Amino acid sequence: MALITMKFGGTSVGSPEAISTVTEIVRGSLSRNDQVIVIVSAMSGVTDQLIRSAQDAAGGNKWGYLSVGQKIRDRHDEVINLLTQPGKNRDAVKAEVAALVAQHGELCQAVNVLGEVTPRILDSIIAFGERLSARVIAAILRDQGVNSRAYDAGEFIITDDQYGSANPLWKETEANIRKQLLPQIANGVTPIITGFIAQTLDGHGTTLGRGGSDYSGAIFAAASDSDELIIWTDVDGVMTTDPRLDKRARVLPYISYQEIGELAFYGAKVLHPKTVQPIIDKNTVLRVRNTFNPSFEGTLIGAESRPADTVVKAVTTVKNVSLLTVSGRGMIGVPGIAGRTFLASARAGCNILMISQASSEQSFCFVVVADCASRVKDEIESELVEEIAHQDVDAVDVLDQVAIVTVVGAGMRGTPGIAGRVFSMMGSNRINVIAIAQGSSECSISFVIDQADLQRAVSTLHDLALEAVVPVAAAN
Ligand code: ADP
Ligand code: ASP
Ligand code: MG
Repeated sequence: MALITMKFGGTSVGSPEAISTVTEIVRGSLSRNDQVIVIVSAMSGVTDQLIRSAQDAAGGNKWGYLSVGQKIRDRHDEVINLLTQPGKNRDAVKAEVAALVAQHGELCQAVNVLGEVTPRILDSIIAFGERLSARVIAAILRDQGVNSRAYDAGEFIITDDQYGSANPLWKETEANIRKQLLPQIANGVTPIITGFIAQTLDGHGTTLGRGGSDYSGAIFAAASDSDELIIWTDVDGVMTTDPRLDKRARVLPYISYQEIGELAFYGAKVLHPKTVQPIIDKNTVLRVRNTFNPSFEGTLIGAESRPADTVVKAVTTVKNVSLLTVSGRGMIGVPGIAGRTFLASARAGCNILMISQASSEQSFCFVVVADCASRVKDEIESELVEEIAHQDVDAVDVLDQVAIVTVVGAGMRGTPGIAGRVFSMMGSNRINVIAIAQGSSECSISFVIDQADLQRAVSTLHDLALEAVVPVAAAN
């Protein structure tokens, strides 16, 4: 008997057919005598709709947020009508859906009156997607004879108050999961828990950031000492690149925690970048599998790094970013410019995705998401106001419409020539490389190019991930 935490993403719970497959997967595990903790996302598209409803409310568009509420209610009712029998269980869950949608309307009404939506209220509004899907799926499983119960994850996951991307308080969270969830599982309950959402110590709803249900899955898997965490999604596993960018993408049977960390940080949406953190020291088996192809094994993710038989394992991209350059002839003499620049970026509330410094020390550049660029520029220029006045540092230069491309593969460490090969491929395709950085783990290289060259760069580099390495002897 194993304890398995399973997380199902938005597409996996996005239609009656998909939910029906989800319940088959859960029942399949239970019939093998496993215990299962189920974490669910909102039905696909619902979180986006809820964000829009909050914006509508703040902008005074009452019809907008009410019609979102109605659409969401209809969509969940349709699932209930198709997948449960008429009777008490169905009536009860329909009433829950109606009550939650009414609460959504009330919150939006409050926002409408205030004319603005704070990050805290926004988190409470976007929580409804997961709160609805968890209740509906639990009811369907009950209808099928499973002793399942829906839970809001705020009962267990406690976070700080960084609304929109809150950080778990590990001690409290682990204690809640152990003391309040595990005994229920021991009593035969199959919990269906909301992904994405959590709560502060004083009871305010928070969220873990977009795509954060994967992270929720990992938090529950780690705190419950699950034997396995399965991320059920809509593709066959972690692939050599985003299949939407290049149809030739192939599934990777195995990838290390470190490699998936780089891939996820640099844009591979298949796994939230924080997912591996909670389980990295726990020996939890982590798999990414396809809800729509459940007999396929998917990708196994583990601690050990295994070289691939291709030059690089995977290619990933981040679009809509800007490159900021701080330069100036006086910079060599002024200590701490980089540190002050990065602190200024943090004050602007922006994460730095990549940093690159030229060896001359006369300039360095870094990448932030495009929406942040002008805020960061202003904050740095006010931090360095004196240096700019003395002309030790020039005004901060912003280059928009660029993208980051990252190639990942543990085999790159100690294999000379891979970086050379990557960049000469860019050169021969007339793609200008604007800045370069190597990941500190040496299992990735990232670089910045013009966004217009992105598609070409990916398909060229993807060849390296598809192409088997030719042994040196054979090549000669
Ligand atoms: P879920 O709703 O299940 O969380 P997401 O949409 O968040 O699913 O993530 C799955 C999607 O990630 C896939 O449909 C695919 O388009 C995208 N993706 C991006 N890069 C990769 C990659 N390297 N391997 C697999 N999928 C990827
Ligand atoms: N529903 C949330 C989102 O769309 C969380 C998730 O799906 O992981 O971002
Ligand atoms: Mg996701």
